[in-house]
Amino acid sequence: TEERSLNFIEQIIEEDLANGFPKDKLRFRFPPEPNGYLHIGHASSICLNFGLGLRYNAPVNLRFDDTNPAKEEQEFVDAIKKDVEWLGYTWAEERYASDYFQELYDWAVQFIKKGVAYVDSQSSDDMAKQKGTPSQPGTNSPHRDRSVEENLELFEKMKQGEFAEGTYVLRAKIDMASPNMLMRDPIMYRILQKSHHRTGTTWSIYPMYDWAHGESDYIEAVSHSLCTLEFAMHRELYDWFLDQVYDNTLTRPKQREFARRNLSHTVVSKRKLLQLVEEKYVTGWDDPRMSTLSGMRRRGYTAAAIRNFADTIGIAKRQNLIDVSLLEFCVREDLNKTAPRVMAVLDPVKLVITNYPEGKEEWLEAENNPEDELAGSREVPFSRELYIEREDFMENANNKYFRLTLGKEVRLKNAYIIKGESVVKDADGTITEIHATYDTDSKSGSGTEASLRKIKGTIHWVSVPHAIKAEVRIYDRLFTHENPDGDKDVDFKEYINPDSLQVITGYLEPSLKSAEAGERVQFQRLGYFCVDKDTNAEQIVFNKTVGLRDTWAK
Ligand code: ATP
Ligand code: MG
Ligand code: MG
Repeated sequence: TEERSLNFIEQIIEEDLANGFPKDKLRFRFPPEPNGYLHIGHASSICLNFGLGLRYNAPVNLRFDDTNPAKEEQEFVDAIKKDVEWLGYTWAEERYASDYFQELYDWAVQFIKKGVAYVDSQSSDDMAKQKGTPSQPGTNSPHRDRSVEENLELFEKMKQGEFAEGTYVLRAKIDMASPNMLMRDPIMYRILQKSHHRTGTTWSIYPMYDWAHGESDYIEAVSHSLCTLEFAMHRELYDWFLDQVYDNTLTRPKQREFARRNLSHTVVSKRKLLQLVEEKYVTGWDDPRMSTLSGMRRRGYTAAAIRNFADTIGIAKRQNLIDVSLLEFCVREDLNKTAPRVMAVLDPVKLVITNYPEGKEEWLEAENNPEDELAGSREVPFSRELYIEREDFMENANNKYFRLTLGKEVRLKNAYIIKGESVVKDADGTITEIHATYDTDSKSGSGTEASLRKIKGTIHWVSVPHAIKAEVRIYDRLFTHENPDGDKDVDFKEYINPDSLQVITGYLEPSLKSAEAGERVQFQRLGYFCVDKDTNAEQIVFNKTVGLRDTWAK
């Protein structure tokens, strides 16, 4: 990563350092709201913040932005921690905005005393009407000039749970004529009679994001608070709140914005992913078709591939759609280096080697990974009856067909050279068996003249009596549209691909008998696959991670 040029956030930091900001005061945070599982968009933010931590040897906190008990759950906290760890990062401290509820409350009381906050008791409709429009100033609330005493009393009662939801709010008293609508007396607290996953029923009021976020950054002495572009307009408010609480004892954080990352053929929004889960379009947050990190992990994507993807796309100042094939490229590139090769047949037709003795078996040596010398080799059983892929045979083929056909030779991977002789068909004309003969001297690696003959095609196979059966899940894009949530007038679910999952039976070489959930392999000539967590004593289940090359028709 040292060769690449600095991204614009790093440039900002370098400038701050050049202007005298002490390097040992650099601090970052990754601040998810625990209202869902992390998705590939979050990976960009994680890699950015933790990457800065590594680059500058600075602490990075994992801060849960848990200010809305209506949507947040412990399950999501646990899942988020697991995902960040899986990506390979270590946080300095695990923090929660809810840890700061008391401190935030105390500050709010000071705001009231200073005359920069007031309790409003209008309906939200009335408040919305008074907001005005970007080109027209708003009007002041009739409660804007409540006395400090009255405000303190009402705010205390809000806290004690004496009022119903929606009846009172605490607002910052800023400027109802500000050209920035967010500065028009924004709400700091609302009443929510809900139990919080960490603070229980202690609180009946909960801070709004804008109020809690910058102050949490300040409490944690975060130097650079990085968020996505939709918060650019919030920066003025972020700074205004800090102006009120800043006391020169801690680093004053600054907010800087970068573009959200969107991936083609999927959605990256926890709210939308939650809909897919709740409405059962997928089997859960970790369904291998989901854009969640847990889904990608289950699909067989590696953390290194995702980090490399995030690094490759870098960060940007403008939003755009990244083609999912770039992510798949990164996955393929990593798995090519690390995944052991095995043989599996997914659409079998039987091949009988007629001159191979019945009942005989041989164990042939097979290289585990040509990309990795240390990966060694294993033995695979060979016998008279094999499965090959149906598409690796053609009865009447032209000269450009280099797989098995009648009267021509092909090499069986790790085994012998064979020649197609005849076919057996059923009443419908479907081929049920292919008969072939083998060159007895042509065993791979034997060094004989026959084995060194140049044969154009090589196909894979599995010995019928030794094959183990597995359920194989083949995935396609979850959405047929490149940008399923790009059109405001069309529900993204309209674009769900009805054929995103195909379940088939595969026949595998026996070395995979004891494969464990999470294990990744290459089924030679077919793609990368991994063992799914649904695997049990009766059934091995594989997920297709990605094909060997980009076959997506654009
Ligand atoms: P969602 O709409 O999925 O809930 P969010 O931004 O509300 O997204 P947070 O939990 O608040 O989700 O996100 C934590 C951090 O990750 C924030 O700093 C946020 O800006 C960043 N982030 C979220 N989505 C993306 C994305 N698609 N690309 C880059 N960063 C993202
Ligand atoms: Mg958020
Ligand atoms: Mg959100």
